[in-house]
Amino acid sequence: MDLSMENLFMKNLSEVQRNIAKAKEASTNAAKHITLLAVSKTQPLTAIETVARCGQLHFAENRVQELLTKRDARPDLDWHLIGRLQTNKAKYIVDKIAMLHSLDSLALAAELQKRCAAVGRRLPVLVQVNIAEDENKAGIFTVEVTGFLAEMANFPLLHVQGLMTIGPIVNNPEEMRPIFAELRHIKEREATRGLPHLDLRHLSMGMSGDYMVAVEEGATIVRVGSSIFGVRG
Ligand SMILES: *Cc1c(COP(=O)(O)O)cnc(C)c1O
Repeated sequence: MDLSMENLFMKNLSEVQRNIAKAKEASTNAAKHITLLAVSKTQPLTAIETVARCGQLHFAENRVQELLTKRDARPDLDWHLIGRLQTNKAKYIVDKIAMLHSLDSLALAAELQKRCAAVGRRLPVLVQVNIAEDENKAGIFTVEVTGFLAEMANFPLLHVQGLMTIGPIVNNPEEMRPIFAELRHIKEREATRGLPHLDLRHLSMGMSGDYMVAVEEGATIVRVGSSIFGVRG
């Protein structure tokens, strides 16, 4: 393996880790524990192996097939699905992923429940919320969250651990702050209801351009691709 590549990834990773630590220090809203997901979509396995050698063990993909191929090669790493999951593909991934970040329909929940029962697994999931109500993005709307979370009582094999959002593309990461803060407020509000089937502890928010703001606003999971691997080809 190319040593200069390993050095570069190591430098990138430690810079991201340092920025996360700094953002955590800077805000009273920050979470105690923050997990860095390396978003490896479109990256070759060699790049993933190099990053894993640097000590990074959590990876995220947005396509089912790509995730499965990479996981086949490295089943020892944690694989998160962060892209849209079509209902008919649920069966391929329920026993392969550490967490699904993109639950956004009751039909998908029902299919996942069925497939989890078949393999005897309780699957960690996050509900994706489309805070900006962007027509082109997946996720339920803010006004739907309370009802959707109540419905999750019908799917006991889905371990609902929190909320996820993908923000709009902005020039200044500060523009994302109100969106991240709103996701935190929604999570806190829903957690105080004390519904026993929910375990709302995670906020998956923030990407390369804005993960520091996300950490300041309470992210427990940040999804960082290009700041680790470099710009995608
Ligand atoms: C690609 C992707 C990311 C990472 O994007 P970068 O800007 O490369 O950090 C994060 N979250 C989701 C859902 C993505 O699809």
